Amino acid sequence: MDSLGIYISVPFCRSKCTYCNFASGVFPSSYMARYVDRVCEDLRAAVRRFSGLPRVADSVYLGGGTPSLLPPDLLKTLFGAIREHFLVKGDAEITIECAPGQLAEDSLDAMVDCGVNRISFGVQSFVDQEAKATGRLHTRAIALEDIDRVYRAGVERVNADLIAGLPHQTAASWTESLDVLMDSGVDHASIYMLEVDDESRLGREVLGGGARYFAAAIPSDDAIADMYTEAVDVLAKRGLAQYEISNFARMGAASVHNLKYWRRLPYLGLGLDAHSMLRTENGTAIRFATTDDLQSYLSSPGWEDARSLTRLEELEEAWFLGLRLNEGVDLQQMETEFDRELVEPYKPLIEDLSSDGLLTPGARQIALSLRGRMLSNEVFARFLDVIDIGEPASV
Ligand code: SF4
Repeated sequence: MDSLGIYISVPFCRSKCTYCNFASGVFPSSYMARYVDRVCEDLRAAVRRFSGLPRVADSVYLGGGTPSLLPPDLLKTLFGAIREHFLVKGDAEITIECAPGQLAEDSLDAMVDCGVNRISFGVQSFVDQEAKATGRLHTRAIALEDIDRVYRAGVERVNADLIAGLPHQTAASWTESLDVLMDSGVDHASIYMLEVDDESRLGREVLGGGARYFAAAIPSDDAIADMYTEAVDVLAKRGLAQYEISNFARMGAASVHNLKYWRRLPYLGLGLDAHSMLRTENGTAIRFATTDDLQSYLSSPGWEDARSLTRLEELEEAWFLGLRLNEGVDLQQMETEFDRELVEPYKPLIEDLSSDGLLTPGARQIALSLRGRMLSNEVFARFLDVIDIGEPASV
């Protein structure tokens, strides 16, 4: 049986970044203890409810929000509950997301005591003016000091996130951020292109106008595409090879936890707006999620209805999740898992996308080209159009 990945969202933040479209906010810290209690309750409920749940975990990921704001006693409560119900492997990857400048010394000590061996910093930019314009509270010096500090504390692996497309960013300032990133010694980087949607204040301003969040100062789409291309190139030259649309790692440092999402391996998500994918005893994938409203989350335990995926839904997921990875999708494996007749209708699309330069088909392996990675949403939408998958079922 596959080992499990455990994801816990911690939605508390010290300030709300202008580009942020996550279920997170500046909630009173007095909610934290109630929140952790609720997560521990769900952990116990999950073990009772999902009979095929793997009880061995090889990854734990606290994301957010800003989990580094949790005080030591609550961190210990969370990890205590996880270890009470799951055997966390000795070599499990245990990650916590941190905001630079928001990692107290006693919380860092508690993380190390709890077995955390990977910290992911939401840096977004090493250029102070850019970080400040989005509401981030750190400077370059603080971010670099924190990266150094967690390595000194014994954390083995560090990721830093950057965003291409922030207000005031220029080609030169992006190159500067990439250089500082690579000089910082991190073994993993996540490079995102700014998402513009009405879920963030900056996104709404880009779509609807206004001057409060510097929407007019974001780079053009072409400039953002150039930044992404430069990142792929610079990071590869400096030893961080791309393995997923937004993720780059030194050899052996790819995120065990995040790979589960793209390889469709089971994970249990706990906390606000957390998503899970488990498999029943006969191998059928089931998905379920929690609410994204904190008050509802705190007042009513449980999940929204779990639903089992049909074979066709699983097939679609196998395409658009697998294609996120640079290794791509193995056509022969797809035919073995889903039957040749189900895979066949996708072949004309694969040919079309290949002649458009969006896919690079090998003899067996099909992967996105660099251009395809930049236009991945359009490519995935075309995969979703191939077959009418009908209505999903609840379980
Ligand atoms: S980007 Fe991260 S730190 Fe900023 S508001 Fe969103 S979750 Fe919080």
